[in-house]
Amino acid sequence: MLNIVLFGPPGAGKGTQSEKLIEAYELVHLSTGDIFRGEIKAGTELGLKAKALIDKGELVPDEVTIGMVVNKLDQNADAKGFIFDGFPRTAAQAEALDRILEEKGTGITSMLSLEVEEEELVKRLLNRGKDSGRADDQDESIIRNRIAVYNKETAPLKDFYGSQDKLHAIEGIGTLDEVFGRLRAAIN
Ligand code: ADP
Repeated sequence: MLNIVLFGPPGAGKGTQSEKLIEAYELVHLSTGDIFRGEIKAGTELGLKAKALIDKGELVPDEVTIGMVVNKLDQNADAKGFIFDGFPRTAAQAEALDRILEEKGTGITSMLSLEVEEEELVKRLLNRGKDSGRADDQDESIIRNRIAVYNKETAPLKDFYGSQDKLHAIEGIGTLDEVFGRLRAAIN
């Protein structure tokens, strides 16, 4: 299997590049943000709880998030591989993912980390907020909180995958195709 962790701060371009990667490599897109937005739209109890946190730019609890990922993996048991987008975001999630994949006889192939500096991220997210309808993209202080949570909880996972020799840093500035070319080169 080809299992890629597409990593990077909010606004780095993970969602956009995931779309291109799933097409090129016939992978299943596993975006925890998309899963939560689906639950919110469907008005489930989980969605209601997640919304309160997401709207503040905080993380959804690990147990809930890991449970959703397990379901999605089980629903796609014959996939050629997965693009993990927005997951893992904490050390507990990364450790759980390794365990879950190991039980299935597979593992993470590589972690591709999109590198974009903070001011560019804020600009991109405010811009996306104009038409995405996402409340968490419309307020600069919430955006800055998401980036702060990323720096504190999520960025350390680069060391986690680095120590497994799986980390590839990818320049995230450039046209969509330029960034995609860099990702493809890293995968191949
Ligand atoms: P972005 O990367 O642009 O911030 P996502 O769509 O990946 O957006 O996530 C939106 C929000 O959903 C996050 O700010 C967080 O509140 C929640 N979320 C998504 N993935 C996770 C995760 N793996 N663990 C905890 N919370 C998550």
